[in-house]
Amino acid sequence: MELEEINTIAVLGAGNMGHGISEVAALSGYDVNMRDINDEFVQNGYDQIEWSLGKLAESDQITEDDADAALERVTPLVDLEEAVADADVVIEAVPEKMEIKRDVWEDVEAFAPDHAVFTTNTSSLSITDLSEFTERPERFCGMHFFNPPIRMDLVEVISGEHTDDATLDVVEALAEDFGKTPVRVRKDVPGFIVNRILVPLMNEAAWLVEDDVATIEEIDATTKFDVGLPMGSFELADYVGIDVGYHVLEYMHDVAGDRYEPCPLMNEKVENEEFGQKSGKGFYDYEDGDGADVSMDEDLFSEAVKERLLAVLANEVAFLVGNDVASPEEIDTAVKLGGRWPKGPAKFADEYGIATLFDALEDAYEETEHPRYEPFDYFATVAEEGGFYDDTDDEDGAPEFDTIELTYSGDKVAQIELNRPQQMNSISLELIEELDAALDLVEEDDDVRALLLTGAGSKAFSAGADFMSIAGSGTDPFGAVELSKYGQETFGRLEEIEMPVVAAIDGYCLGGGMELATCADVRIATTRSEFGQPEFDLGLLPGWGGTQRLQRIVGMGRAKEIIFTAERFPAEEMAEYGFVNEVVEPDEFETAAHEYAAKLAGGPPLAMRFTKRAMHSGWDNHEAGLEVESMGFGHVVNSEDVHEGINAFFGDDEPEFEGK
Ligand code: NAD
Repeated sequence: MELEEINTIAVLGAGNMGHGISEVAALSGYDVNMRDINDEFVQNGYDQIEWSLGKLAESDQITEDDADAALERVTPLVDLEEAVADADVVIEAVPEKMEIKRDVWEDVEAFAPDHAVFTTNTSSLSITDLSEFTERPERFCGMHFFNPPIRMDLVEVISGEHTDDATLDVVEALAEDFGKTPVRVRKDVPGFIVNRILVPLMNEAAWLVEDDVATIEEIDATTKFDVGLPMGSFELADYVGIDVGYHVLEYMHDVAGDRYEPCPLMNEKVENEEFGQKSGKGFYDYEDGDGADVSMDEDLFSEAVKERLLAVLANEVAFLVGNDVASPEEIDTAVKLGGRWPKGPAKFADEYGIATLFDALEDAYEETEHPRYEPFDYFATVAEEGGFYDDTDDEDGAPEFDTIELTYSGDKVAQIELNRPQQMNSISLELIEELDAALDLVEEDDDVRALLLTGAGSKAFSAGADFMSIAGSGTDPFGAVELSKYGQETFGRLEEIEMPVVAAIDGYCLGGGMELATCADVRIATTRSEFGQPEFDLGLLPGWGGTQRLQRIVGMGRAKEIIFTAERFPAEEMAEYGFVNEVVEPDEFETAAHEYAAKLAGGPPLAMRFTKRAMHSGWDNHEAGLEVESMGFGHVVNSEDVHEGINAFFGDDEPEFEGK
C-alpha cells in the first residue's frame, strides 16, 4: 500500500495513548475511527481530544477551523466491526496485556479489509508474537508513539520477524505525514530502542544505591547536572512510574536474561505501591516532602557514578548496533526525541571515551560478577575502533554539529538552524560554541551572500537560555561573567558578518533567543510568534547583549517596557515597535523566510559590507561611522559591481553582483 491510499485509520483504545494518536491522525487530515469497549470510555477519549484541540487553538498553534475540522474527522465507536471495516491502517493501543491484545487482534483480523496494514503501540510486548495472532504477519509492525503523542516527535517503527519492508516503509511515511520523526527498529528486541536505553539506566542507578556505591542524591545530581540529562535517574523513574519501568524490565529479564534482573530496591518500591509521582511517593516524597528536588551541588558529583552509568548505556548501544537493530545515528535520534536528551547515548559514550567505558564495565564485571556488567561482543570491537562514530565518515570534512544545523541553498543563502527542538531550541553553551564555529565556516565561504537563522520545529525559534545545561557546566572553564561575554560576542558576530542576516521566527522567541534574534539585520515572524525578555521573572537580567542592542532597534522606552515587565509580546505588536520587519502566516513562513534571505543575497556584497560596518560602528560614534561610510563609498565607487549595477539599471535587467 502507498501513503496516498491511506484515508481511514482505526485506533483501538481511547485511553492515554489512543486518544492522543487519534488526535494526531485527525489533525493530519485522516478520518479516524476511535474505538473503546464502552460509550463512557470512548466519549472520555473524545472529550480529551476536544479539550486538547481547544488548547492548541487557544495558543494559536492551529486555527479554530483546523480544530473543528480535526474533531469532525474523529468518529467515536464501540462496535469493533464498524471501527475496522473500512480501515486502511489499524493502530492498536489497548492495555499492555498479551491476552487482551490477542483477543483484539483475532477480532480485528475477522473484520478488517484484506489490504489493511496492522500496527501496535505496545511498549514492550513482542511484535512477532502479536503479529502471529493475525493472518497477515508480514503486514504487521510496531508503531510506538511516546506520551503525549501530540507533543512527542518520535515514533519507533518496529519490524517483527515476519514484517515486510513495504509495510515498514508505508508506516514510516504515515508517521512522517503525522509530522513525526520515525526511527526504524530493524529487529524485535525487548525495549526497542528508547526503553532499552532508559530502563537499564534506571535499574543501574538503583543497583548503585543497593551496592552502596552512591546515594540517590549523588546519583541524581550527577546524572542531571554533571552528565547533563534532563532528569536525575530516580527523578525519571518517579516521573515515568517505577511500576512502568519495572514492567519493561521484568519483560527484558524474562526474554533477555539475568543482566536485566530488577534491582531489589525497585522490587521493594513496586511491592509497597510507591510508584513515584502518580502515587505521591516513590524514590522521592511528593506529598509530605519536596518531591524530586535534585541538588546542583558539585560536591555531590561522582565520577564513578558517571562512568558506570555511561558504561552500561554504551553496552546497550553496542548491543543494538552489533545486532543491526539500528545505527548509532538512529539510536541517538530516537533517545534525543523520545527521552528529550540533549545528545544521544552513542555520542555521550564517544565523548567520554569509549575505551575507558569498556574498561570500566569489565572492571565492574570482575568485581561484582553480576551479568549486567558483561560486555556485549560488539562493545569490544567499538572500544578498539575508537567509538560508535567514525570521525572520518564525513565526506566533505565539515564538522558535525549536534545543536545546530548548517545548510546551503543554491541561491547563495546559508541557513543556520538552532536544532534542539525538544528543548525549544534553548541555548546551551555547546550551542553557542557551535554557532561560533558555524559562523567561521559561513564567513570563509565566498559563495554565501546571506545568512538565514531559524529554529527547528514549529514551537520555538528559541525559548531562551538552557539554564540546566548552563548550570550543569560547573566543571567548564566558564564562569557567569565569561559566559555572558562569550554569548555577547558570538551573537554580535551576526552584526559584524559582512552579509545580511535574516532571523526567521516561528513560535517562542524569548530571553537569550530574543537576544540572538536582536543581532540579526532583519526579522520576519509568524503571526503566532511571541517575544519577550523574561529574565526579570527569574531575578536575572538579559546577559547576552539585551540591555544594549534591543534599545537600538525599538528605542529605550520600549526596551525598558519589554525588559521591566518581562511580558510576552505578540508578533504584530513587535512589528509596530519596529522589531519585526514582516509578519507572515505560518503556512507561508518557510517560503517567505527563504525568499527574503534570497532577495538580500542578490544585493551588492561590497556595498552591503560597508553599509553594515558604517551603521554599526557609527551607532555610538557618529564621526567614526561617517568615516567608515566615506571610506566605503570611496572603495565601492569604482568596483565592477557598480558598473554592473548601472548597466543593469539602464538595460532594465536584474544585476548580478560578484563582490568585486
Ligand atoms: P490506557 O489504559 O490509558 O488505555 C487503554 C484503553 O484501551 C482503555 O481505555 C481501555 O478501556 C481500552 N480497551 C481495553 N480493551 C479494549 C478493546 N478490546 N478494544 C478497544 N479498547 C480497549 O493505556 P495507554 O497508556 O493508552 O496504553 C495503551 C498502549 O500503549 C499499551 O500497549 C501501552 O504499553 C502503550 N504505550 C503507553 C505509553 C504511555 O506512556 N502510557 C507510551 C507508549 C506506549
